Amino acid sequence: MIKAQRGTKDIYGDESVVWQWIFENAKTVFQNANFTEIKTPIFEATELFNRGVGDSTDIVNKEMYTFSVGGADKNATSITLRPENTAGVVRSYIEHNFNRQSPPQKFWYFGPMFRYERPQAGRQRQFHQAGVELFGIKDATADAEVIITAINFLKSLGLNDLEIELNTLGCPKCKNDYRNSIKAILAPYLEDLCDDCKMRYEKNPLRILDCKNENCKKIFETEEIKEVILKDYICDECKEHFEELKNYLNELNIKYSINKMLVRGLDYYNRTVFEIKSEALGSQSAVCGGGRYDGLVEMLGGAPTPAVGFAMGVERLYTLINKPTPQKIDFYVVSTNIKEAMKLTQELRQNNKSAEFDMQKRKFSKQLEKASKISKYAIILGEDEIEKGYYSLKDLSTGEQKQIKSFEELINF
Ligand code: ATP
Ligand code: MG
Repeated sequence: MIKAQRGTKDIYGDESVVWQWIFENAKTVFQNANFTEIKTPIFEATELFNRGVGDSTDIVNKEMYTFSVGGADKNATSITLRPENTAGVVRSYIEHNFNRQSPPQKFWYFGPMFRYERPQAGRQRQFHQAGVELFGIKDATADAEVIITAINFLKSLGLNDLEIELNTLGCPKCKNDYRNSIKAILAPYLEDLCDDCKMRYEKNPLRILDCKNENCKKIFETEEIKEVILKDYICDECKEHFEELKNYLNELNIKYSINKMLVRGLDYYNRTVFEIKSEALGSQSAVCGGGRYDGLVEMLGGAPTPAVGFAMGVERLYTLINKPTPQKIDFYVVSTNIKEAMKLTQELRQNNKSAEFDMQKRKFSKQLEKASKISKYAIILGEDEIEKGYYSLKDLSTGEQKQIKSFEELINF
């Protein structure tokens, strides 16, 4: 038997109904906030992710589904299944000159992402993200707008009290001071850091703070290192930006905590980074990660453009939400006259009602049994009903039955 690939999953039945509900909520909340949908391709040039996600990240170093197409010769192209969607949206933004429209430009997306990771609870190889990207606004209003949109989406799913963690990484200038201090203080510990962190030490030392390795985490507990981490390197302008954001969030009654160890995986973040977490998820506790990436558009060849966004893990959302009970269909047409049953079913569907009939042409009692499992109402079309032109409508939750005189009355019922 051929099975689904490790770390991938079929979504069907009741689960798929819940997924549709999550998608509908995403669409409604994002579009109410004036984000428009963008669908970018599932695969892109590998170089886009190498540059746009960054070659010091786990994603680029270990997790990409990369293959070459077009033969083994020099015409072969290296493509990669998208591991995240910010790089793709930025590529599209540049390619279509969205910067010529007046800012802000606001996009949302919902779709599959691919990372070659060790599958475990909350971690798949094909998973889904719902997210937004907002371009063209330097002000902290945009950071607030993006965070509020994430919260509103969570609220629409009944998730009201997740923990929001915030940090600021500063701008290229103050980030640099911070990096140098971290490097200096960690230099004596270099041999004790994990292999990943040894590499990060050169390429992206701040990322070391995010390391989940127990040994590395213990090193950060050292008093002198803690002191460096907690010291304020942020320049006045970045500080003001962060204060402004916090003010907006306070004004809107959004609770958050500051986590100085939060740097997020991707290379390109500056200033605001945030994560939304839930204890209920266990060790893979983050449902949402986001932040500001003012340098990315320019780095990928566009005009300098401030930007901020988030990505939400849909599988993790799914485990958190109270699943709505799947809806039954509106009508099941119960009749041994299969042609009449088919005709009525089609008319109901054309009038935007969900309806079903018995394709197996079973006997009346079997049909009614099936109807009571999957439908709210049974419409009984017996000989008398067909001859005299009325419908017997049975409420399958109460067992009550009554006569309905016309089709109009039936669909307005
Ligand atoms: P993690 O620390 O869990 O690896 P990350 O920093 O790699 O997260 P992001 O790239 O920020 O994650 O992606 C945003 C969100 O997407 C995460 O918060 C998580 O909910 C979800 N996510 C990321 N990777 C996976 C995966 N392999 N399977 C399921 N969901 C994922
Ligand atoms: Mg990851």
